[in-house]
Amino acid sequence: MLGKGFKLYSILRMKCPQCHEGSFFKGQHPYQFNTMGVLHKNCKKCNVKFELETGFYQGSYYISYGLGVALFIAVWLLIMLFKENYSPGLLLFSFLGALLLLFPLLYALSKIIWANLFFRYKKPNQSINIVNSQDDSRIKK
Ligand SMILES: [Zn+2]
Repeated sequence: MLGKGFKLYSILRMKCPQCHEGSFFKGQHPYQFNTMGVLHKNCKKCNVKFELETGFYQGSYYISYGLGVALFIAVWLLIMLFKENYSPGLLLFSFLGALLLLFPLLYALSKIIWANLFFRYKKPNQSINIVNSQDDSRIKK
């Protein structure tokens, strides 16, 4: 389930959503603050352009919102599990603390999940073969 060809592979390893080999972000990991959330323009392996149109990744805000809600629910469940009587302040500060710790990861995840909604997996050599077969058919006609 986590091999190449599955979107979860691309998301968890933060690899190119098309070939699952080239790196998606310029930084080595989401907590590298000088390159946080900065994408390569093209994949180094399959050369696909990551930004399909100007402002393409603004849509990842929806994913980011969903991840934030999931984080809030997870924090809420953990507090309910370990503390019977909790104040709203404890819930608020726990959530803000978790958000402060995890925002670079959530930011990166929202972009790679958004990209995976629009790209399909192709083996790196597969795209070259398709182009060659189309060229051959044109010559024969
Ligand atoms: Zn690629």
